[in-house]
Amino acid sequence: MESALTARDRVGVQDFVLLENHTSEVAFIENLRKRFKENLIYTYIGSVLVSVNPYKDLEIYTKQHMERYRGVNFYEVSPHIYAVSDNAYRSMRSEKRDQCILISGESGAGKTEASKKVLQYYAVTCPASEHVQTVKDRLLQSNPVLEAFGNAKTLRNDNSSRFGKYMDVQFDFKGAPVGGHILNYLLEKSRVVHQSHGERNFHIFYQLIEGAEDELLRRLGLERMAQQYQYLVKGSCPKVSSINDRSDWKVVRKALSVIGFSDDEVEVHVHTHTHIYRHTHKGSYIERNSVLKMHTNTQRCSDSSILVGWLSLLGVDFSVLKEALTHKKITAKGEELMSPLNQEQASSARDALSKAIYGRTFTWLVNKINTSLAFKDKFNSKNASVIGLLDIYGFEVFQNNSFEQFCINYCNEKLQQLFIELTLKSEQEEYEAEGITWEPVQYFNNKIICDLVEEKFKGIISILDEECLRPGDASDITFLVKLEDTVGGHAHFVTHKLADGKTRKVMGREEFRLLHYAGEVNYNVNGFLDKNNDLLFRNLKEVMCSSENRILTQCFSREELTDKKLPETTATQFKNSLAKLMEILMSKDPSYVRCIKPNDAKQAGRFEEVLVRHQVKYLGLMENLRVRRAGFAYRRRYEVFLQRYKSLCPDTWPSWDGRLVDGVSTLVKHLGYKPEEYKLGRTKIFIRFPKTLFATEEALEERK
Ligand code: ADP
Ligand code: MG
Repeated sequence: MESALTARDRVGVQDFVLLENHTSEVAFIENLRKRFKENLIYTYIGSVLVSVNPYKDLEIYTKQHMERYRGVNFYEVSPHIYAVSDNAYRSMRSEKRDQCILISGESGAGKTEASKKVLQYYAVTCPASEHVQTVKDRLLQSNPVLEAFGNAKTLRNDNSSRFGKYMDVQFDFKGAPVGGHILNYLLEKSRVVHQSHGERNFHIFYQLIEGAEDELLRRLGLERMAQQYQYLVKGSCPKVSSINDRSDWKVVRKALSVIGFSDDEVEVHVHTHTHIYRHTHKGSYIERNSVLKMHTNTQRCSDSSILVGWLSLLGVDFSVLKEALTHKKITAKGEELMSPLNQEQASSARDALSKAIYGRTFTWLVNKINTSLAFKDKFNSKNASVIGLLDIYGFEVFQNNSFEQFCINYCNEKLQQLFIELTLKSEQEEYEAEGITWEPVQYFNNKIICDLVEEKFKGIISILDEECLRPGDASDITFLVKLEDTVGGHAHFVTHKLADGKTRKVMGREEFRLLHYAGEVNYNVNGFLDKNNDLLFRNLKEVMCSSENRILTQCFSREELTDKKLPETTATQFKNSLAKLMEILMSKDPSYVRCIKPNDAKQAGRFEEVLVRHQVKYLGLMENLRVRRAGFAYRRRYEVFLQRYKSLCPDTWPSWDGRLVDGVSTLVKHLGYKPEEYKLGRTKIFIRFPKTLFATEEALEERK
């Protein structure tokens, strides 16, 4: 039989706190690599789960596996997402405290798959009743729907979530799932009108034209060819080998009815989105009516069919919409005039409208799902406990980083802050609860970076908003200049300007760099103002507010037109929703899942060290391990420790009748533990170094 030691050489340690050299990044990555080669994709850092995407189906998610993790102590079985799920569930049940599972990692690392595994675990293992079955179905079916509308093929992931998601699963006093609620963050609306090479628009567009019945397509006036629609082929890859749009359409269609959408609603919803195809159908009216008349020769549809189509789709008067898309309302000398837009301006008005409609109907969709998932039993809802699931973008560092990366990385700073506060807090609380002296840990507090971004009046977001509101010559560059003036001296902010008036050659003149907790990122200010403003011309808004389409009337309200208050900018909205999210998470006990992508080729069995090292850094894993290892590497409840090792001491074998703490004390003295190597708390033994524990494990192996 393989001894514990040689097994460790081959498959590494299942908890990084047991690494001999815990400060070595090389040792850390070597441990990940060893385990990955053995298909052991999960490893702990204490209670944090690190997961490496295997890019192949492993036989570790069966019902038998779920059973194996049910009600079992974290450390008695190999690391698994089910162990984290089960642990959160049991803590919720026994301690009556709300839980949350925070899943982070870069695109393609396996976050969404992990969150689905958690949901499946609860769906299979939690108690059920007839009503509960519906809830379970709806919880599970919300995924394909949200993925159809919110996911797309990108270069990094064929099924990349283009929005952040937080989902509460509510449980009743019996521990059965009875409801849910979803919050969505920052949908990447720009994808509706533009995709980079090799990427696609949101899945739903291709599903519809591939999968919808002939009859439906005919009613919508659509053709089966994605090539006909420029919005769908900006990235030149309407077909993806790993995706079957036609069968996915059926899955989504079924999911929509499980969630409770009526056929009628689905059709209206589809109608709403069909305008997006129409906009860029070769020969669409924008092209034909634009001032420059560039594409007249590609005209294919007859005017009347387009007219009829438009009226039924958006439920607005065609001539009014046409005018709104090709003209801008301006006020000159107290008079309102319609000034014609040129081709470029008309296209961008069209794009803004498409983005607005898509973004707002996405939120509508989420609300609709929430209504369907809502916990119906008002009387009992007070007693419901909650497990929250956060599936949100990790740090993004690209060649060129823009407003989106700025928001995403800011979000990660906030999550890191929460992580530090909660981890240190829970460590400290555990020491106190166990009556063991707390040994302070040195760590980097990233609050200073969060402040730099979000502080009122002088944070980056405030300055950006100020420029967005300023009439006149405000531009991305004046924003950058203002940043230099205001936060130029900040320790975590850098531009090409040096203090002595010279310039830093390595940085562009349109960039600022933030020194994030996880590393440096350069942001190009190009487009910051536009993206933050996210404006829709007023006359377009007016047209949409007059729509008779049932869904659009819910998305564009007339109050919006009369509201004197300026609409919140994108960054400020995001900041506020993050603040709310932090509050939600703060009120719960967290578990963490850190996902790592082993290669860029989406291939099984390939572990690229440089790529992994980069992620270990941006996920803050070494810092995480350092904090976890600062005091004691290992801790176990007395009964668990005694149960496992009692055979190693004649006094505790076959059973110990006295107090547990005395039993453990007798046992470790017999094993020769030195006083500085361990401490005995109220309910647990704390062991300082991994080697002490390994020696005991080896003794156990030998005995067997
Ligand atoms: P993310 O949400 O982090 O961007 P996903 O969860 O969508 O990434 O994962 C990307 C792809 O990687 C999935 O579509 C799937 O093919 C593969 N994958 C992720 N996790 C697993 C897993 N545990 N087992 C097998 N394949 C996985
Ligand atoms: Mg995802």
